[in-house]
Amino acid sequence: MQSELSELLAEIAAIKWPTFLSDGDCVGTDPTLFDDEDYRKTIAAKKICSECPVQKQCAAWGIENEDAGIWGGLDDKDRAKARRGKRKFVSLEKRWENLEWRQDMLSEKSASELAVKYGKTERTIYRWRNKIQKRAIKRDNSLNS
Ligand code: SF4
Repeated sequence: MQSELSELLAEIAAIKWPTFLSDGDCVGTDPTLFDDEDYRKTIAAKKICSECPVQKQCAAWGIENEDAGIWGGLDDKDRAKARRGKRKFVSLEKRWENLEWRQDMLSEKSASELAVKYGKTERTIYRWRNKIQKRAIKRDNSLNS
């Protein structure tokens, strides 16, 4: 169990948040421009990105982490093209959800509380906890052998 917790904390610490965004030309603009849900807004967003001083960093971040929106002037199709042939893509949001889920399963929170949070029955929460505990025990055993 200890290794599962240590690994989880290391993964959280390793997340590099996009601090460059505060230097971007999108600061103070309408954030919905970058949602990529309205063609006219997308054109306006891409125009802003084209002159942004952190455009390259932002595009690289988007390719590595984001599955929606405009990042560095790239939309989701542009990013999918850029990822072709690379390892399987998992968005930061999904990775974060997975971390949160593991943290919850290892926490002292009650099954009833987690059942409400995840929209599942308490029985499912017990099953999930059992699964993560078995995995942690297996990992601890392999580290000790
Ligand atoms: S490239 Fe575009 S989305 Fe990225 S920081 Fe600059 S203006 Fe914002």
